[in-house]
Amino acid sequence: MTTATETKISSTQAKLPSIKTALPGPKGQAVIDYDKKYMSPSLTRDYPLVADHAYGAIVEDPDGNKFLDYAAGIAVCSTGHCHPKVVEAIQKQAAELIHIAGTDFYHRHMPMLAERLVATMPGTHKWKVFFGNSGTEAVEGAMKLARYHTKRDKIVAFYGCFHGRTFGALSLTASKSTQRKGFGTLLGGIEHIPYPYAYRCALGHTAETCGVEVIELLEQQIFKRLFAPEEVAAIIVEPIQGEGGFIPAPAFFLQELQRICNKYGIMLILDEVQAGVGRTGKMWAYDHAGITPDIVLTAKGIASGMPISAFIAKEEVMNWKVGSHGTTYGGNPVCVAAAMATLDLVEGGLMANAEKMGNYIFSKIGDWPKRFKIVGDVRGKGLMIGSEYVRDQRTKEKAPDLRDKVVDTAFHKGLLTLGSGENSIRMSPPLIIDQEQADCAIRIMEESIAEVEKSL
Ligand code: PLP
Repeated sequence: MTTATETKISSTQAKLPSIKTALPGPKGQAVIDYDKKYMSPSLTRDYPLVADHAYGAIVEDPDGNKFLDYAAGIAVCSTGHCHPKVVEAIQKQAAELIHIAGTDFYHRHMPMLAERLVATMPGTHKWKVFFGNSGTEAVEGAMKLARYHTKRDKIVAFYGCFHGRTFGALSLTASKSTQRKGFGTLLGGIEHIPYPYAYRCALGHTAETCGVEVIELLEQQIFKRLFAPEEVAAIIVEPIQGEGGFIPAPAFFLQELQRICNKYGIMLILDEVQAGVGRTGKMWAYDHAGITPDIVLTAKGIASGMPISAFIAKEEVMNWKVGSHGTTYGGNPVCVAAAMATLDLVEGGLMANAEKMGNYIFSKIGDWPKRFKIVGDVRGKGLMIGSEYVRDQRTKEKAPDLRDKVVDTAFHKGLLTLGSGENSIRMSPPLIIDQEQADCAIRIMEESIAEVEKSL
């Protein structure tokens, strides 16, 4: 007997996109109409992709159109769609134990994955792990832990950052005002400061040196005029802003944050929800800076699409008492099985592939600003590839409309990407892509950018 999945993909394994109908096709349109009838209108769909089934880096819609996926479900499907090893692990575990509530009972799966994650942590510290179900939940837990451990309540975060949608995480998020609008007063004691953004650095710094002034602002203004560093529980930072525009923080900047945190006993929280698990060519994006955070957050790519998140904290930091924090589903055995299989694949070659293919892609697209007048900047690391769209390279006037057109044109040619920040595009393909798929994505992007330029 074959499963529905096998039936759908075995005869149609493709590596490259092909579009056969207008988009969306009639079957896709029916799904969209159905969705409109019942689903919350708050969901943001940039273009009408309707997924029916998927494999590797290909997503097929119900009308038989095949798309090359350079979004990976927002950097989630790290091992590609339905990787056979991940599917096998899920199926095997689902037949043995699906749920028991790790918050109330023991099972071997949680410590197994925790041990695996701890092995990726730097230095000689001992670490402990808490499992949740989403990135937001990891952020919430980490905020609580930082407050609990330090007995302080202030938190410093960055403009442009995205940490999630629940009230605590939303109070940290400073990405788009629509994400906060209408929800009233958020958590107090949170101060946002600028994130180093080399392309738009007011002081003209480079990608290596941008952010000096932010460190100065933190120490000379925030700590002196708003709250003393001894009141600050945590600084939370994305090593590469994801939703904010795929903007990498310079290594020195993360090192400076660590210095400040060490000096004042502040918890340094690295939000690796989007950048982590091999995507940048190292397990954690902060590894490029050689730092040791106090708390690390992971979700998205960790389990290839199964919902699990974790925060990993130094043992002396995760010193809260029984009952302080818990959750019903976190560390669910089936999600753990998917995560273990994912880590096998990531550590077994996909992380190296992300570095290799990332270097290849950047070597081909690094000169886009020279070749296309609407591309202001190309940036990122590994398979976190960002490009920023402007009306005029000299004034750097942001061009969100042109960005949207490029995303839409690429979609109609069979390439899935996502907007990011006000006027950038993020490409975050599964870590399995090969050179043929990279060349195809580059070709579609270049054709799309050229078409949008021509229409001006
Ligand atoms: N943190 C970062 C850096 C993210 O990119 C996201 C989601 O995009 C989150 C937290 C929230 O994760 P989730 O959507 O799983 O709640």
